[in-house]
Amino acid sequence: MSKARILLVEDNKGQGKIIKEFLEKSGYAVTWAEEGMAAFKIAKTRQVDVILLDLVLPDIDGNEVCRWLKLNQDTRGIPIIMLTAKSSTHDKVAGLEAGADDYLPKPYNEVELNARIYACLRTKTLQDELRLKNRQLEDMLTQVETLAITDPLTGLFNRRRFASILSKEFKRAARYEYPLSCMMIDIDHFKSVNDTYGHQAGDSVLRELAQIIQASIREVDTAARWGGEEFVVLSPSTTKEQAVPAAARILKTVSQHAFFDLRDKKVTVSIGVAGIPDESIENEEKLVHAADLALYQAKKKGRKRVEKG
Ligand code: GH3
Ligand code: MG
Ligand code: MG
Ligand code: MG
Repeated sequence: MSKARILLVEDNKGQGKIIKEFLEKSGYAVTWAEEGMAAFKIAKTRQVDVILLDLVLPDIDGNEVCRWLKLNQDTRGIPIIMLTAKSSTHDKVAGLEAGADDYLPKPYNEVELNARIYACLRTKTLQDELRLKNRQLEDMLTQVETLAITDPLTGLFNRRRFASILSKEFKRAARYEYPLSCMMIDIDHFKSVNDTYGHQAGDSVLRELAQIIQASIREVDTAARWGGEEFVVLSPSTTKEQAVPAAARILKTVSQHAFFDLRDKKVTVSIGVAGIPDESIENEEKLVHAADLALYQAKKKGRKRVEKG
């Protein structure tokens, strides 16, 4: 293990020299600053594990230096031991109030100084470990949250996430009388794709299709995997008359796309479009249901087409 790094802040040359030598003999790497400002700069720019801070300094009061160090994001984690000739209760309290972690009146016993440094280092190590663990936990939490709303195969939002976006958008649209439309997209004869090329090729078709859909929509739109080989797109501020040409563009792009695993076989989709305002659609479930009914019509009329509800 590398040596623990101590920043010694002491303006008295004689005392500073004695402590520095003692600390180095004890196995620490010591940087010595003789003024508060210099100490602050060192603490900010170099790796420091413990600061021994004299209370009376030529430029800035030690308590003030301590306060700065504890206010600063980069330095607040460094333990500070105040060293001072003063030993009144008032001075001790002032030092601790400024954020010092420990307090040692001069003249101090070397064994005691060493024990206090050791205790500070131990606390810092524990705190560093805790901080690291916290960060790891936060990362894990973010991952779990992402997983909970993402379809693992395609990376699109899953149905659950779609439901919560739909709910918000429907309320907003109804409240401000904005149009809102929904597309339900279903692959035609996908079963035969699986049967002919295998389930893995089927999976890669789903992934590529998801990319095509995502690339075809606006930033304000939401695409999600509804389930199986069905996808759904929600388009705020869009009437179903405006959504139909958008759906037709997706349909055309898909039917012209060369899917990686399918050699020459082309894939087509059928799309149902529904939207509000519509007297028969009074809630979000009905909006999706209307798009589904329109999709059913598209299938019935021969597939590879867009129908609106
Ligand atoms: P239609 O034109 O009427 O929609 O016919 P279809 O074959 O697409 O519809 P059907 O509902 O009969 O079959 C859907 C197929 O989608 C069957 C199922 O195995 C396949 N499928 C669903 N989810 C997945 C998946 O995650 N991966 C793969 N490879 N296939 C899937
Ligand atoms: Mg001094
Ligand atoms: Mg289907
Ligand atoms: Mg299908």
